[in-house]
Amino acid sequence: MPDSATVSLKDIERARRAIAGRVRLTPVDVSATLSALIGAPVLLKLEHQQITGSFKLRGATNAVLNLSEAQRTRGVVGVSTGNHGRGLAYAARETGVRCVICMSALVPKNKVDGIKAQGAEVRIVGRSQDDAQAEVDRLVADEGMTMLPPFEHPDIIAGQGTIGLEILEQVPAVETVIVPVSGGGLISGVAAVLKARKPAVRIIGVSMERGAAMHQCQKAGKPVFVEELTTLADSLGGGIRLDNRYTFGMVRNLVDDLVLVSESKIAGAIRHTYRVERQIVEGAGAVGIAALQARRIADPGVTVVVLSGGNIDMDLHYRIICGEDVDVTKE
Ligand SMILES: *Cc1c(COP(=O)(O)O)cnc(C)c1O
Repeated sequence: MPDSATVSLKDIERARRAIAGRVRLTPVDVSATLSALIGAPVLLKLEHQQITGSFKLRGATNAVLNLSEAQRTRGVVGVSTGNHGRGLAYAARETGVRCVICMSALVPKNKVDGIKAQGAEVRIVGRSQDDAQAEVDRLVADEGMTMLPPFEHPDIIAGQGTIGLEILEQVPAVETVIVPVSGGGLISGVAAVLKARKPAVRIIGVSMERGAAMHQCQKAGKPVFVEELTTLADSLGGGIRLDNRYTFGMVRNLVDDLVLVSESKIAGAIRHTYRVERQIVEGAGAVGIAALQARRIADPGVTVVVLSGGNIDMDLHYRIICGEDVDVTKE
């Protein structure tokens, strides 16, 4: 396995100073219903209200601000068509850096438009994610652009970790923090803060049952290939990279437990979040509430649940809140 590396509390404090004023300090809101359910205060960290609709803006902004002058001149490039792409495009525009997002011709128009709306150049190449990645590699090699990945990068992890600093200030009595997990950048940063400042806090990661890469890799004891499957929590899809150096080890060392939730529990949590909490979240943003509702976390005490994103197709959201148990695995 390649050497592992970590991100420290100091890195995250530095990130917070760097991105201050460029990202929102998102509010926390108590959930009366979920507090009654578990018998202890439950507070929702409303990170889906972040600019660009997810926390990915924090890491992207920190990473762009840390570029050298030469790197800034040549620009940044990425492949994500989802929340990382949006965050990166926005962060680059705000700091006056060129940004190219490469994607295949199969990416749906609404996603392409979402990225364009944030001011990125979109380059459509080939018919697969691999074709898009090949174009990124070419831009890095031929034009000296900098590739910024969604989680495997110290500046990205440090940026996401700034949520942990806010949680400690907003909820000093916190005992358990529940965090959605895909590649593990968010939970690694949040856990690095809490385990340094308040080691007794429990950090629980939540993923969907379908294609939970970090969960399967931790069980295997090393990064392994995990097949990506369709899921309502689409922002949690994808692998953790076989050459993972940061998040696999940080999750192993800092996270207390990883739990999984079913598709129907995710749909139920999106519905609850809308009807009761009056918030619009995407599937990935709802998995923490789904885990609490499914009673997957024993005696959590004072709990903060990170609602990580809100970028959901509104027609899909409408069907879910109308009570349909949408099964994207059959569509
Ligand atoms: C990317 C993302 C996650 C997972 O973040 P990782 O750092 O990859 O674990 C969770 N929720 C939303 C909304 C996301 O966009």
